[in-house]
Amino acid sequence: MSRTTADSCPGVLRLHEAADGPLARIRVPGGRLPPAQVQALAQAAHRLGDGNIELTSRGNVQLRRVHNAGALADLLGDAGLLPSRTHERVRNIVASPLSGRIGPHPDIRPLVTALDTGLLDSPQLAGLPGRVLFTLDDGRGDVSALHPDIGIHALGDDRFALVLAGRDSGVRVSTTEAVDTLLAAAHGFLEIGTGQWRLQEIDGGTERLTARLGRSPGTERLEFAEQAGPPIGWLPQNDGLVALGAGVRLGSLSARTAEFLAAIERPILLTPWRSLVITDLDEGPAEQVVRVLAPMGLLFDAGSPWLRITACAGRPGCAKSHTDIRADAAAAVEAGRTTAAATAEADAVPAASIVTAGRQHWSGCDRHCGRPAGPITEVTATPDGYQVVSPID
Ligand code: SF4
Repeated sequence: MSRTTADSCPGVLRLHEAADGPLARIRVPGGRLPPAQVQALAQAAHRLGDGNIELTSRGNVQLRRVHNAGALADLLGDAGLLPSRTHERVRNIVASPLSGRIGPHPDIRPLVTALDTGLLDSPQLAGLPGRVLFTLDDGRGDVSALHPDIGIHALGDDRFALVLAGRDSGVRVSTTEAVDTLLAAAHGFLEIGTGQWRLQEIDGGTERLTARLGRSPGTERLEFAEQAGPPIGWLPQNDGLVALGAGVRLGSLSARTAEFLAAIERPILLTPWRSLVITDLDEGPAEQVVRVLAPMGLLFDAGSPWLRITACAGRPGCAKSHTDIRADAAAAVEAGRTTAAATAEADAVPAASIVTAGRQHWSGCDRHCGRPAGPITEVTATPDGYQVVSPID
């Protein structure tokens, strides 16, 4: 597959003209946000956007209705959220959010930092399409299933599987080789590509890239399964501290809630499931955080129906949408119509008649933007009402 146009992924310096106004996307490699950066994002959303911070499926964030692009770049630059004007859109790095804090898996965080530094240090890699996704999975199997272009998956014993085009390539590398291999693969993508946005779009991309790396794949191949859901609630850390996994309704965090998060003065992790993790808390303060933030809408209960529903932008942000999809989805959750025993399949039904069950994605049109991978009920707006189909893999 070849492309005739460059990818149009937005950044801070290249805003997307959405139907409701300019949209900025801010890359957060590894989803890691120190408190000062959470505060900066809250300020940006409050002063220069629509008052909300949208979480994306790559652990990045978006601001809508940006009305002073220069001031936004200055604010984010001062906070360290725009370390490069040339490479900002290529820093799409998703890593296992709990790595180094929870579980027996190797700590992947130093490799995230090294990969980001390596990307920023290479003038050629500024030319990567903004769609290219890097993943670093510490072996728990949570992010390798996100269909990365280029990734590594820890196997223990100082070995990583090289993931290419969403699959185990069969190549194995050591910890010391891992970041250099990821960067070499990124260079190789630019060399074998002819304008494609993803490695998956290049015919024989995995084989050609493997050969260019001078690697011989073995016969072992890992299979990557979708993670059931985000980490939610009380999460004991290996060091005796506590992390709190928090769901965010339809992935939209208010600036005011973000200010409260910043005030906790602990690192926040954004996950690719549009949720976050508040880390490094003592038990007493952790209980206090739940008491304060749960009433503000953060979800600490893994049974919440909000955790099983996603929605695209819809109106007013997208001109293609047939309706305000997020309002309709929220109304369905609040009315208890998303927790039925089984989805009622339907065509051309009004929003108020929809009854669904399980994981579901609501879309304002049949492009299904932001649809999570795996089996899921699709609730799709049409000119005549909603179509409900369940579950689709
Ligand atoms: S699915 Fe359709 S309505 Fe929703 S954001 Fe994408 S193009 Fe817009």
